[in-house]
This record gives sequence, C-alpha cells and structure tokens, in this order.
Amino acid sequence: MTNLNSTLSKLPSPATKRIALRVSAPAERALHQNHPWVFDQAITQQSHAGAPGDLAVIFDGNRRFLAIGLYDPTSFIRVRILQHRQPAVIDADWYQSKLIAANQIRNPLAQQSTDGYRIVHGENDGLPGLVIDRYAESLVIKIYSPIWIPHLKDLFLALAKTNPAERLILRLSRSLMKQKEFLHGLEDGMTLSGQPLEELILFRENGLTFECDPLRGQKTGFFLDQRENRVRVEKLSKGKSVLNVFAYTGGFSVYAARGGAKEIVSVDSSAPAMEAAIHNFSHNQNIPAVRSAIHETIAEDAFEVLTRMRSQKKMFDLVILDPPMFAQNQNQIAAGLSAYRKLARLGLDVLRAGGILVQASCSSRIDAETFFDTIHQTAREANRRLTEIERTAHALDHPIKFEEGAYLKCLFATVF
Ligand code: SAH
Repeated sequence: MTNLNSTLSKLPSPATKRIALRVSAPAERALHQNHPWVFDQAITQQSHAGAPGDLAVIFDGNRRFLAIGLYDPTSFIRVRILQHRQPAVIDADWYQSKLIAANQIRNPLAQQSTDGYRIVHGENDGLPGLVIDRYAESLVIKIYSPIWIPHLKDLFLALAKTNPAERLILRLSRSLMKQKEFLHGLEDGMTLSGQPLEELILFRENGLTFECDPLRGQKTGFFLDQRENRVRVEKLSKGKSVLNVFAYTGGFSVYAARGGAKEIVSVDSSAPAMEAAIHNFSHNQNIPAVRSAIHETIAEDAFEVLTRMRSQKKMFDLVILDPPMFAQNQNQIAAGLSAYRKLARLGLDVLRAGGILVQASCSSRIDAETFFDTIHQTAREANRRLTEIERTAHALDHPIKFEEGAYLKCLFATVF
C-alpha cells in the first residue's frame, strides 16, 4: 500500500485552530466516564464555528482539559472523542499508536487460520465513526461521518505502517454518501491505494474459505461479528438438519456443514447473497463433511418461508435466526421486540423436540436481558421447555467500550 489515489492526496487538512468547547455538567460527567460522544445540546460555550473534522477541545468549568475529539456540525453527535484526560497532537503517529493497540487485542486471531476480521471497531477502538476490516490482502475502511475526511491521509500513513496490505478500499455510509459537499471527490467503493479489485476477495475464517464483495456486499462484505457464534454452531451440528434463517452468504451454513450437518437450508431475501452462499459451499469442497452435506438455498422473505414450512410440518434439529436490526431507535423498541417474539415463535414451530435454537439480535437499543427474556416468554407461550446452553456476546475483534457499543447477543438453547 504505497501509491496514493490522487483524490486522497488532494483532500483538505483539518483547520489548524482548534475549537474550544464547554459542556453541561451531565456531559462533563459522561466524559469523565470515557463516553465517546458530546451531543449538540450539551454544548454551552464554543470559541468559533468549525467544519467537519476540525479538532475540538473540551474544557471543564476550571479550564481543565477534559477531552479532544473531531467536530461535526452536521450531526447531533457534535463531537466524537479521540482521547480523554490527556491532551494529544492528532497526527499520523497518534493514529499509529491507536492502530497498534487495536492490533494487540486481535493477536490471538493469527493462530486461528483467520485473515478476515475487524481491525478497528469505531468508538470501541478509540476511532469513533469508522470501521476497518481486513479481508486477506484487502483492507476496507467504512466511514460513517464526514469528520474523517480531513484525517484520511494521516490514517492512511498510519495504516500502511501497522497493517500492510495490497489495497485499501473506501466505503461510505448511506448518510455520508448524501453529504457530497464534504466528500471532495471521494466515492463509495473507491480504491484509495493499490490496484482496484478485479474479482471477489477470497479470505479465510477458522480455516474455511469465504468470498466477499466489499464493493456491493452488506456491511463491508461479510458479517465478521458472528465468527465465534459460527464456531459454536459447527460444534453443535453433527448429524443434524439445520435451518439457517437470515443466512446472508451462508456463513453459519458452511460451518454447520463442516461440523457434520447432514442437511442445511439457507434462507435470505437477498438473491445475490444466496448465490454467494452456494459459492461458499463450492470454495470448501476440499473438506469431506462440506462435500457430503446437502445444501439448499431459498431466496425469499424469512417470515413467509417459516410460515410455509410450519404449515408443511417441516422440522429441523437446529434452527438459526440471525435477523437484521429490528429496532433502529428508541421508538422502534416495542415493535422490534414483537418482531423478535414472532420470529422466535416461528423458529420454535419448525424445531423438533430436543432441537437447538440459536437466536441473535444486533439491535443495540434492545438490551440483552430483555431480548433473552423475550425468547423465554415465547417458549412458555408455545408450551416448549427451553434450557439455555449459552448466552454469547461480542467476538474479540468487536470490543465494547461504552454502553451503546454493545449490540450483539445470541442465545443457544435446547428446546423440548
Ligand atoms: N447470518 C448472517 C448475517 C445476517 S444479516 C451471517 O452470518 O453472515 C441479516 C440478513 O437478513 C441479510 O443478509 C439480509 O439480506 C437478510 N434479510 C433482511 N430482511 C429479510 C427478510 N425479511 N427475510 C429474509 N432475509 C432478510
């Protein structure tokens, strides 16, 4: 990763003059507890107006330094904090130290035949509003806020030292794509460094081979956050018939196959994802258990498929339910919970007595306890006896550093 795309080299730098801010008492308390956000309404004094990505320093009532972060006039999250307590010069060296710390957490993955994993998990790795994923020799940086644009060059210099790779691909969040005035020619899917991809990427996860399309795929191309849950499913799959609902590109399905599942049905409403799931089975034909497993894909709405299977009395030994986020904000919590309940019920109705239910939620607005209670309640209503095997949370490359950072929870349970 040496040659810089010309758009990247022409990006603006952040203003040299830092913005000085004071904030409300509750916001000060939150900063003392290392919270990474300052909301617009918490700001009580501001030295001057700023552009996205300008550095903002927050002081307490006694002019003591509280935190430094990146200013975003376009968001109600007005400042995303880079560092608490200690003042810092935010430059390529500073980014390098953050990336080194992030790499240390992920060291154990080197022993796991895994070269697809998250290098930076936003706020939780101290780089708020961005993620960086590695897929073999490609890095994908996904930015959720314009604050990063004036810092991309420094971040790139740091990445080149800490995480060498053949190319760096840029992804922009949907909302950022609309903020054209701040993009300075950057586009979603652009190759920032190295040769543009000519085909899909093949990468390894726990010794299995998966393909990923970082340009058109969901997230950055793969749901890396479910890696550890996929291993758990593999261990539970021997001799079983497995239904993988919201399968995306068949991650859980391929692991179930390696674990000895005899039959696997993958369901997802995305036809391209189902095509990729078929490819992912092809990529692992060198593994006898994958070769001998029967895999079927259904590209349809999950609720409709489950309802149909129930009426046809089709039953499975292991049912995985890993839906998209059902509650995006506070107002959607009740509707989200009722969708989880409905889904759990449908899943239970196609699960044999003595079978295993694996149900996940990625809604950070719904806390783990409430989610697990909802599944228990649904099982009671269905007159099923549910015994927990395990409750799981985040994989090591998706650390949690603040309350809102905890989104993934998953229940493994035996159901009679
Ligand atoms: N289990 C997957 C990740 C699932 S993400 C993995 O391990 O990789 C959620 C998936 O649900 C996406 O692939 C999306 O295409 C799919 N999806 C969203 N709404 C759906 C619906 N109504 N019916 C079926 N699939 C749906």
